[in-house]
This record gives sequence, C-alpha cells and structure tokens, in this order.
Amino acid sequence: MTDHSDSTTSNALALIDAYSRLSGASLLNEGLFGKLVASVADVILLVDQDNLVQYVQGAFPIEVGQSLTEAVDRESQAPLKAYLDRLGAKETSEPDTARVTSFSLSAVEDRISIMRWYEVMGIRDTGLQGNKPGILLLKDVSAEHQREQALRHELTHDSLTGLPNRNLFVSRLEAAVSAACQAQSQFVLLFFDLDRFKSINDALGHAVGDEMLRQVAERLSQLLGDQDLLARFGGDEFALLMPQAVDDLAGDRMCARILGALSEPVLIAGVELSIQTSIGVARYPDHSGTADGLIESADIAMYHVKARGRASYQYFDPKMNQGRFAQLQLEQELRKAVLGERLSVYYQAIVNLDDGKIMGVEALARWEHERLGLLQPKSFLALAEVAGLTAEVDFLLQRKALQDLAEWRDQGHQLFLSMNASAAQFADEKFAGWHQQHAARLGLAMSDIRLELTEQAMVERTETLLSRLQELRAAGVKIAIDDFGKGYSSLAYLQELPIDSLKIDRSFIAEISDSTDSVTLVDAIIAMARGLNLELIAEGVEREVQAKYLRGRGCNKAQGYLFGPVSSFAQIGDMLSNGSVSEVLT
Ligand code: C2E
Ligand code: CA
Ligand code: CA
Repeated sequence: MTDHSDSTTSNALALIDAYSRLSGASLLNEGLFGKLVASVADVILLVDQDNLVQYVQGAFPIEVGQSLTEAVDRESQAPLKAYLDRLGAKETSEPDTARVTSFSLSAVEDRISIMRWYEVMGIRDTGLQGNKPGILLLKDVSAEHQREQALRHELTHDSLTGLPNRNLFVSRLEAAVSAACQAQSQFVLLFFDLDRFKSINDALGHAVGDEMLRQVAERLSQLLGDQDLLARFGGDEFALLMPQAVDDLAGDRMCARILGALSEPVLIAGVELSIQTSIGVARYPDHSGTADGLIESADIAMYHVKARGRASYQYFDPKMNQGRFAQLQLEQELRKAVLGERLSVYYQAIVNLDDGKIMGVEALARWEHERLGLLQPKSFLALAEVAGLTAEVDFLLQRKALQDLAEWRDQGHQLFLSMNASAAQFADEKFAGWHQQHAARLGLAMSDIRLELTEQAMVERTETLLSRLQELRAAGVKIAIDDFGKGYSSLAYLQELPIDSLKIDRSFIAEISDSTDSVTLVDAIIAMARGLNLELIAEGVEREVQAKYLRGRGCNKAQGYLFGPVSSFAQIGDMLSNGSVSEVLT
C-alpha cells in the first residue's frame, strides 16, 4: 500500500466499519456507500469465502461468480488467497494489507488480451456473520505501470535496434555468473563488432550506418535460443550471453552461425554492403570468474581475431594478455608518432623495361621505432586502422612524399609519384582539394600525382567513392588499382570505374619462371588491360626472366627487388642521378 492513499484508505475502511455496524448486510447495494468510496477507489470488490467475486463496482475484468484468486497473476495468487482465507477466519477487523499490495490480471479489451495492474488500497471483512465476505478497495494503476515499464525498457534497451543495452546485459551476466557458480556449470559469452564499420559510417553517413546496425541486429536475433541474450554494447559492438551453453562446442556453433548470417551483404538504399565481424569468446569459469573479467577476456580475444585478419572467431587465451598490453602500448606510440609526424616515407622505383629508366616511384610507409627498429607497414597499418588513424597516416605520408617529389624535381629529375590511399581517405570530401592545394604550393604538375587503391577497398563501391574518384581525376590525379587480380573485380566493374592504371599483383608475377613459356593469367590480364585501354604496371619483379617475359608481352612498366630494394629519399636520389637501371636488363 502506498503512503499517499493511507489516510483516504483508512477513512474509507472506517466508513465501511461504521456503515456495516449501522445497516447490516445490504451495505454494498447502497448507492451512497458506493459513491463515497468511489472517490478514493477505482474498484470495489466483494468476494466470498471461496474467493468468488460477488459484487463489482468500477471497471474490472472479472465478472461476478468468477474466482479472484485464480484470475490474478501467478505470483500474487498464493499471498492473496492466504490473506483472504485468514480474513475469513478472523475475529477482528484490523486492516492488514502488508502482504498483498498489488496484483495484475489479464483483460480482454477490443478483443486483444492486455494486462491490467491494481494496487490494493485496503482489504476488510464486512463484519458480517455467515459466509464472511471481504471487501477490496482497488486503485487501477495500469497507466502508471505502463509508463514505468516503458521507462524501464528505455533504460535497459537500445533505441536504435531495440536490443537490450549494456546495463541489462551486465546485470544478466552477473546473474548468470552467480547461477553458474552455484550450479558449478559453465557458460560462454561472445563479444564482437563489425569490421570496418567506421569507414562505412564515415563514407556513407550515419543514416546508412544506423540502418546497417538495425539489419544486423535483426539477423542475429533470429539465431538466438530461448535463454540467449543479445545486446548492443554501444557503437557497432555487440555482446551475446549464452547462459545455457554448457557443452563445449555451443560457443563454436553460435560463432559459425553468426559468421554465416553476416556473410550475405546487406542492401541499403540500393547499395549492397558486405559486412564482416570478428568474434571473441570467453567461457565461465575457465577465462574469468567475474562479469567484468569475462567481458574483458572476450574483448581481448576479439582484438586478436582482428589482428589476424578478421571475419573469424577465437576463444580467449591467457597468453593474449601480454600481446594485448604490447598492442596497446604500440597503439599509443603510433598515435604520438603520427602527431609528431615521425612516420617516414620510403620509395620503390617504377621502371620502364624498354630503356631501364626510372619513370616514377611508389611511396611506402615506414616507422622508425625507437625500440623496435624500422617497422614495415604490415606491423602498424592494421594497428592504425584499429586506432582510427588510417586517414591521418596516409595524409601525413602523402604530404611528405609530395615534398620529396618537389625536391627531386628541383634536382632536375622528371618522375611521377604513386601513393597508397586508404578507403578512409576517399571518405574525406576535401581529398581532391587537398592534393590540388599541395601541388599548387609546391608547383607540381597534377599529372605526376597518382593514387593507388586496392581492389578490396573498391569492392564497397559507393557513390561517395565514385564521386571522389571523379573529382580527383578531374583535378588531374591518376588512379591505379593496386594488387590487381587478388580481389574479385569483374571486367564490367572495371569498365565503369574512372581509373587509369592496373598494378598486377606480385603473386601472378611469381608464377613466371625459367620453365614456363606462358602464364595464362598474366597473359589474360595484359590482354584485358589493353582492351580497356588501361596502363599496366607489374609488381614484385624479382628476376630477370620475369622482366623479359613481361616486356615480351608488351607490359613495359615494372617494379620489384630486381631493380632495387625499397629505399630512402637519398638512395632514390642516387639512383636517379645514375641515369638508369638498365644494367639489370641485359
Ligand atoms: P603494395 O602497395 O603492394 O606495396 C608493395 C609491397 O611489395 C611493398 O611492401 C614492397 O616492399 C613489396 N615489394 C616490392 N618489390 C617486391 C618484390 O620484388 N618482391 C616482394 N616479395 N615484395 C616486393 P611494404 O612496403 O611492406 O608494403 C606493404 C603494403 O602496405 C603495401 O603493398 C600497401 O598496400 C601498404 N602500404 C604501404 N605504405 C602504405 C601507406 O602509406 N598507406 C597505405 N594505405 N598503405 C600502405
Ligand atoms: Ca601500392
Ligand atoms: Ca601492390
């Protein structure tokens, strides 16, 4: 019973007492009583000793003759019955509602079954002899209850996807931990996010990102068992609690199902977007005995999946902790290095096979790390992506490379500069303007600037990417597809793209050896490039036989260790001064 109704209720109860003393059995049929009590109670019920409703005043879903105690919600049935029984047997008429303060029951309104909630304001016996009926004064609190439910839902659910949120997840996880602790059983927890979600969000806008999250949530919801709880943890992070996953492979099966469900692209506003996820799994009690510890373990495992190439899953392993610490430290250091512009650009010559002259250079990122020495891109670019630094890294390196190109030009060398660009850069609407501005500042010809984009980065072909490519080309920048052949680009796809050149992936060039007289794939790519009128550059040329083969088929531009290692600015300067590298092409 709530405080605010205390005095009105006891007034009403006093009234019942007084009235029953005065007028005996017929009190409830008197209109006067009803009117008086109706001002404090929404419903007045009279139930007999079998708890059957004998009289109803006000809107109530139970009719005369039905059992009240059987109609109410299951938790309230026993206490309500016990109380009414006691009331029937009691001599005194002291109000006692301490044990039954509210109940709910289902009602049919407009042919739809809904729940209604009532607060018990007072229960009294009538003081009558014989079948000792009880009187219940009820307040209809359904509206308040619904508001409270809605508020509670809002506090525990994510408004975008409708999934439980982090708060609810953590409290369910805590409950699962104590249940499993008592039962000495195990369960698993999955933690995952969507790979490259940030770049999609940046490139296509938040509305598309939101829609993607909604579709993902919907797909995943269909995979859940009765007891599983899927939550959106925040951003593109999801967590799945499987409190019933007692057998060792339940987690693996769920991971396979999730990866399968997300392997189909989503369709948003007519654009097909591929999604991938990396899942970390933690098991109670093996990996941690606490809710926080389990979340952290699964998170660490997820991080490892990402570092190893994504779109997969992994269970936590205590060994990961050390790796995680090192990663975090390196991430911090990378952030500082980018901020302090301490990443370096190295170069690889691109050579004309006909005359052995250096036509251009490709800029390649290096990190001269104080402790670890010269780091290759593979050991820090993935880290940059996780840290959201990809575009910054690329802009920094491109700015340095453009500066170097201007110096070579000042030394009298004519060459083009090819730079690796990330999808994140293409999301930046200032990209083309940025290059124009720097070229103008340094007095460089736009036609000497090239950007390389991998096929994978182009797979998510979006309006943004397309218009960015067009802007860059309109500004005079040449566009090359990097690692060509490694991806899945179709011919039709290439035809539609505003590009100038293809760089044959080095895995194809590696197929060319002394014993091969024809390498079909290389031949096919050469023929195709010619058909599409695209420039072709062979990558990873290590041996003379490969250079000769390519030249023989009409592909006369190449780069690779045959012509020299990846070199510093000064080393390239020396190579340029020496004129040509034709001595390796005898
Ligand atoms: P990539 O663009 O295909 O660059 C060529 C890679 O092949 C370079 O590796 C280079 O050292 C290596 N390479 C060159 N000639 C040969 C050869 O004859 N044989 C073999 N086996 N390898 C050769 P690196 O410098 O480790 O770069 C790896 C990848 O990292 C690059 O592949 C590129 O995709 C990416 N990358 C490098 N710098 C940047 C950057 O500044 N921004 C972005 N977004 N990506 C970069
Ligand atoms: Ca490249
Ligand atoms: Ca390449």
